[in-house]
Formats: sequence, C-alpha cells, structure tokens
Amino acid sequence: MKILVTGGTGYIGSHTVVELQKKGFDVIIVDALFNSRIEVLDSIEKITGIRPEFESFDLANQSLTDDFFARHNDIKGIIHFAAHKAVGESVEQPIKYYRNNLDSLMNILEAMDKYKVPNLVFSSSCTVYGQPDAEHLPVSETAPIKKAESPYGNTKQIAEEIIFESINAYKGLNAIALRYFNPVGAHDSALIGELPLGVPNNLMPYITQTGYGIRECLKVFGGDYPTHDGTAIRDYIHIMDLAKAHVVAVERMVNEKMKKSFEIFNLGTGTGYSVLDVIKSFEKVSGVKLNYEIVGRRAGDIEKVWADPTFSNNELGWKAERHLDEMTLSAWNWEKAYRSN
Ligand code: UDP
Repeated sequence: MKILVTGGTGYIGSHTVVELQKKGFDVIIVDALFNSRIEVLDSIEKITGIRPEFESFDLANQSLTDDFFARHNDIKGIIHFAAHKAVGESVEQPIKYYRNNLDSLMNILEAMDKYKVPNLVFSSSCTVYGQPDAEHLPVSETAPIKKAESPYGNTKQIAEEIIFESINAYKGLNAIALRYFNPVGAHDSALIGELPLGVPNNLMPYITQTGYGIRECLKVFGGDYPTHDGTAIRDYIHIMDLAKAHVVAVERMVNEKMKKSFEIFNLGTGTGYSVLDVIKSFEKVSGVKLNYEIVGRRAGDIEKVWADPTFSNNELGWKAERHLDEMTLSAWNWEKAYRSN
C-alpha cells in the first residue's frame, strides 16, 4: 500500500518514513528541499534497506501538484508534513508562511477530491492551545483553541479549519490532525536526526550544539516562571514515538477504524519537564558540562504546557514510551555522528 509523505526528507518526515517502511508500506516522498537535504534518502535506505520513491517540487504550485496526482493513481493515504516552521521568521514574513503552508494544503485537498485519495494525516501543533488555563492542564483535545501567537501558529489553526470544511464538502475524505507537543531526539542509528539550518531556535539542538562546542553558551529564556525551578515547562516527546503515532494513524484510516471523518489527537507523553530538567538530563547522559546562563524570557513563550494523552492512548492504542534521558541521549548521539562525518 502506497503512502505519500510530503516533507519526507525533513525531521519528523524522515523518521516517519522509516517507521512506515518497517511496517511494510510503500512510501513516495515529495519534498521541495527548502529546509532539508537530499542525502537523507541515502540515510533512510541505510536504515531500512529500501530507498523511497522521491520527487522534488513545491506543493504550493497547483499545476505541479495536480500533475503529480494524475501520474500516481495508487496512493492510498497522505501524511502532510511539508511546511515552513520557523516561528520568528513567520512574524517577519507572514505571507511566505500563509502562501506556502496553506496553498500546499489546499492543492492537496483539491487533488484528493479529484483523484479520489481518501486519507490525510496532518501535522498540527499544540500551539493551537496557547497557554492553557490551570483547569485545562494537562491539555486535552477539548481544551479551547487560543488566538495564535504567530503567523506560523495561525497557519496550523486555519489548516485544521480548511480540512474540517473540506471533509464536510468532499464526500469520501477522512483526516486525522495530530497535535504535536515538543518532538526531540533522533533515530537510534544516529543516521537521521534534526538538522536545523543556521542558529537553532529550538532547545534540544541548541543544547547538543553547545555541548559539541559549536555554540558558546545556551541562553535559558526565563528563570522566573511559576514552576518548580523557575524555567518553562514543555512536554518533550521522542521523535520515534511520534513517528510511530503517524503509522498508527495511517493504519486506523486505511483499516476504516475511524469514529468520525475528522479526528484530532494530542501527541505527548503527559509529563512536563523544565528547561533545567532537560539540561540536567543532557549532562547526565553525555557526561558533558553544559555552558548555560539564565537570561530574560523570550517574547511569546508559554510558561507551561503538557499533554493529556489519554484520548490518544485509548483510541489509537498508542503510547509514548521513551523517557527524557533517551531523548537527550539520542539527540546527542546524532549530533556527534553528524559532526564527525
Ligand atoms: N529555550 C531556551 N533556550 C533556547 C531555546 C529554547 O531556554 O535557546 C526554551 C524555550 O524558552 C522553551 C523551551 O526551551 O521554554 C522549548 O523551546 P522550543 O523553542 O524548543 O519549543 P517551543 O517554545 O516551541 O515549545
């Protein structure tokens, strides 16, 4: 059974491709390589022994997208990862984000209707919840959606609405939106992992690059949050646990196990860790003393959020299994392997 993975050479995409192949799915990747490297295909092949089919074009281009689906009439499902994802850049260049992230989704939905591709898994984000009120922590799928803090976050909210409305309008379409908490870590082989371009925005790659000596000092944004150690809390989830959830979602769709045509699931562990907890875990597993300093809060940051994964656990039969130490260790192993090549 063939699954299209858009953005399949990216961070979450590449790990998901490996899990799909392991489960016997044929994978075709479409990726414009805006923020990823073609060599990821070699790494996937090294891990699984199978080179996924690959085409490089921009899904925001309607005629290229239509042409792709006209040529591939054997696709049974789509996992749509391809999107711009830098929060700060989205504030500076909002139209780039709306155009790319929404045009690609609309082109895909139109093609799904026209070429009768029934199943879509969409990568959404816990950013839709903003800072949940105390009574909504841990945050479940029914927590209120808050006004997005950035154009990037807004593209995820609008995308969920576009999917919902399209499914109502185009009969035979199903979708699952997966709202990720904070994906970190890498495949155990250390052949694929997170590869941010330039200075990382996210915590884990900043930690591993600082540990490796590429960055001088990690700035911990905010030491005065109302948390156990004053630093902000997130629900970090191992990338392989996240990848597995995508395979489960695809299987649920193709095996016609969905309870309604648009389902939404939180993907988190259910445990929140502070920035200092993550640093301590990194120091423990790597044996490296991390150079860091606590500075002022980062604008727009949420103080604490973690998932209630009960609904995903019960409905998908999926549970995040890997502990924080496995996340930091695999991220560190990947950083070292990548740098030594
Ligand atoms: N963070 C930090 N220093 C950094 C990058 C991130 O202290 O250089 C903190 C950030 O303030 C937040 C947590 O680490 O509390 C996770 O940040 P990330 O950007 O990885 O994810 P998000 O903010 O989207 O949850």
